[in-house]
Amino acid sequence: MAADTITTPGVLYVVATPIGNLADITFRAVDTLKHVRLIAAEDTRHSARLLHRYGITTPLVSLHEHNEHERVDRLLERLLQGESVALISDAGTPLISDPGYRLVAEVRRRGIPVVPIPGPSAIIAALSVSGLPTDRFCFEGFLPAKPGARRARLQALRDEPRTLIFYESPHRICDTLRQMCEIFGSEREAVLARELTKRFETLRGGAIGEISAWVAGDRDQQKGELVLLVKGAGKRLPNQGLDLESARIADILGAALPPRQAAELAAKITGEKKNRLYRYIVDLDDG
Ligand code: SAM
Repeated sequence: MAADTITTPGVLYVVATPIGNLADITFRAVDTLKHVRLIAAEDTRHSARLLHRYGITTPLVSLHEHNEHERVDRLLERLLQGESVALISDAGTPLISDPGYRLVAEVRRRGIPVVPIPGPSAIIAALSVSGLPTDRFCFEGFLPAKPGARRARLQALRDEPRTLIFYESPHRICDTLRQMCEIFGSEREAVLARELTKRFETLRGGAIGEISAWVAGDRDQQKGELVLLVKGAGKRLPNQGLDLESARIADILGAALPPRQAAELAAKITGEKKNRLYRYIVDLDDG
């Protein structure tokens, strides 16, 4: 079944579509979308453009975050009647920061086959050209919109050794980069991938501090669709020669405050040098 280009009755196909350039679609995706009985799309008007380009006339129904709950039953009915259905989203792979989770979970729970038709996803496209370690990575989707919750999330990720990948909105990119400078340290390496596969595709790598200044100084970089990748944390240097108590205090303050502020406060409490404490809090080797 998996290698067929013709669809099988009663199967849900999860079909990846382009993330910008409409030519980025597989032959199998086009075949599948032509042959299924119904396509469930996040925004039917948005998808109509893609379908028109490939001469696909299959009927569309909407399935988005606000109606997924009620749509699931109707789609299940059609699948149980032996009809084949494709799920697509506005861009890339459905369910990846996109609707469809409920549908796929329920369809699988009922023992109905689900078949992936793989293709583009902004995470993988960005990671593949980032030059950052790709052997292990951690996809964080969108960070919380509220500054406090976002800070807490970033703090929880500070020591994560895998490459971190975030989707980010253009309205929040400046604030996020600023917070990352405070929490990960401005020297940590990062890559900003903007408008991949589109006319203004831009890829910029460097220290988070440099990227932050560049984006803040150029409004064009605050537009379009963005993936932000951050190199994982290195191993902590043994302890910068700190005694155990000073290291313990630096750990506590470093987890709660921006590194500079934490180092300053820790220096006052312990009598240790501020620089040494700062290096202990942020300075990580590359191992
Ligand atoms: N399902 C999609 C996928 O597989 O990549 C992601 C959908 S999510 C709602 C949309 C986010 O993905 C955007 O805000 C942006 O962070 C990222 N994205 C999508 N297309 C992109 C592109 N062409 N260039 C950079 N980022 C993109």
